[in-house]
Amino acid sequence: LNAPKLFDLSGQVAIVTGAGSGIGQRIAIGLAQCGADIALLDRRTDDGLADTAREIQVAGRRSIKIEADVTSKSSLSDAVTRTEAELGALTLAVNAAGIANANPAEEMNEDQYQTLMDVNLKGVFLSCQAEARAMLKNRRGSIVNIASMSGVIVNRGLSQAHYNASKAGVIHMSKSMAMEWVDRGIRVNTISPGYTATPMNTRPEMVHQTKLFEEQTPMQRMATVDEMVGPAVFLLSNAASFVTGVDLLVDGGFCCW
Ligand code: NAD
Repeated sequence: LNAPKLFDLSGQVAIVTGAGSGIGQRIAIGLAQCGADIALLDRRTDDGLADTAREIQVAGRRSIKIEADVTSKSSLSDAVTRTEAELGALTLAVNAAGIANANPAEEMNEDQYQTLMDVNLKGVFLSCQAEARAMLKNRRGSIVNIASMSGVIVNRGLSQAHYNASKAGVIHMSKSMAMEWVDRGIRVNTISPGYTATPMNTRPEMVHQTKLFEEQTPMQRMATVDEMVGPAVFLLSNAASFVTGVDLLVDGGFCCW
């Protein structure tokens, strides 16, 4: 056993959804720093994907940029086909694309509920389906879905029943897919971040909320996006070769209280 080599992702090809910002962006760069080539998928049309690609180039790895929406099944299968044609056989995936908003349940309209569910839950399902179809051909692959501690607890003071349910869904759906593919070389796990300093939480109108997030977290601060990289590399890599169907809370202790 060569322990440091357990985390080496050289020769691997990953797809990362939500790679234009926040957690997905930082994980994509981290995987490249560990040796993987990366297909960067996001629906953003601004500079986010280009910024990620530039950092990956600095890390000496290859990347391709794919503008796509995770609610579109055909866009995802096209993305996987393009990834395999340009980078090689897909072996790793991180599904981080997601949205958040809040509204009291009694006031929420169906559109707000459905749009969030489509991105956060159906989007993860369709992403895993497209990725696993490619991975199953080689009986080799590791998938990490970004859920949330909101799939485990209810965030005090945040009226986001749809978001919390979508994330609980991601955790249980990932365990279910882990078991469907467990004897065919594919592992599926989730990371459930606590409050993390990303554009989702650092908008100026969030200042008051951010202060509360910090106070409520046992470590008395939000996570940085850097702190999501180690858990993702671990779960994707051979270091976690006997780990599947697990939800890894990365929450500064939040769910202990
Ligand atoms: P972010 O807004 O910085 O990044 C999300 C990215 O996903 C954006 O680039 C966005 O364009 C992309 N995206 C959104 N909808 C998409 C779609 N339909 N198709 C393709 N791309 C799409 O947010 P973040 O904080 O980095 O969140 C990443 C993930 O982590 C989300 O699933 C979120 O729910 C989860 N999460 C975040 C926190 C937090 O505190 N920030 C905590 C727990 C879980």
